[in-house]
Amino acid sequence: MSVCLPTTYNQLSGSFSTISLNDSQETLCISEGHFPLTTSFTHLGLPNLLFTCYMNAAMQALLTLEKFIDEIYRQKRVWGQHPCSVHFQQILNIVNCQFEPDFKKKNILSDFKQTVADFNKEFSDDDQKDTHEFMICVFDILRSSKSEMQDLSSALNTLYSCPVDAHISFQMINIRTCSGCGSESKNIEDCICLILKLTASDSADGCLREYLKGGCVEFSCNCGSHESSQKAIFKSLPNVLILQLQRFTTQDNNTVKEKRAIYLAPNLEIPKKFCNNATKSVQYSLVSIVSHLGPSLNYGHYICDGVNRQRRQSSESWLTYDDNVVTETPMQDVLYQRRTSAYLLFYEREKC
Ligand SMILES: [Zn+2]
Repeated sequence: MSVCLPTTYNQLSGSFSTISLNDSQETLCISEGHFPLTTSFTHLGLPNLLFTCYMNAAMQALLTLEKFIDEIYRQKRVWGQHPCSVHFQQILNIVNCQFEPDFKKKNILSDFKQTVADFNKEFSDDDQKDTHEFMICVFDILRSSKSEMQDLSSALNTLYSCPVDAHISFQMINIRTCSGCGSESKNIEDCICLILKLTASDSADGCLREYLKGGCVEFSCNCGSHESSQKAIFKSLPNVLILQLQRFTTQDNNTVKEKRAIYLAPNLEIPKKFCNNATKSVQYSLVSIVSHLGPSLNYGHYICDGVNRQRRQSSESWLTYDDNVVTETPMQDVLYQRRTSAYLLFYEREKC
């Protein structure tokens, strides 16, 4: 039996049904008029169905990724004509449900959870789940219809771009070099995120550099050597780079949580030596964090912090999404408070 720690009751939730957009509320619209943003953020919360903080935290992080969500809107001309359109539409329903009463939000979230459960039965019960696995499943669902969408787009005389491939996925080149004869072998890996060991460094960018730098691996070469070095470089870089800090490891058949403090910086630089054919380093900005609060994978609570898109002039204002409760938190406080609980980090590539 999994247990989710109780979350704070949101006093506003009872009055959601009376909230609607009206002329007195300032509305700011971003590219293509999606996100109906207002000066208030209290309506942005998502109610917990029953231990579904893993879903709420993952979805709030994805909703923070403007370009990814914009791409889903942009491709509607294709997916809107396909039976799989429900998968895409359900994500947009979550984007657009902020002024709906609580019971409608619950229906929207329940429908989406059922869609994910239909794709992967791991999510069919009401137990607490790994938010990372849920997010990967959402990406898999969107990617699963890619070839059919591309066929459909040809028939419609247009082009289809899978939102996950356009913004999230990337390729790594893993290079193994024999310590004896120096011979190299390479393989290309398709990735959605990178999983970083926390023991490598005390900062997120340090963990990434250690991952890329690699280390020694056992390999029997024709030259007789049994040792090789292995490193990785980016073949392509995504618009959104997702890093998973490996907080959960298995020891003696038990999953153990690593609570080590990891320094989180607002920016991340990928040095050009780790990018294939790059002429300069690539810069990323941290836009969202999913954190795991509590002692273990099956006993805890997920929350999400994300840059406050309503304050577009300032990246210092962030919002903390704790199911129904949304509060404004200065970025520096988020970076400090989440140093022992940050689990998923979402970085957006900066414009060159
Ligand atoms: Zn060799």
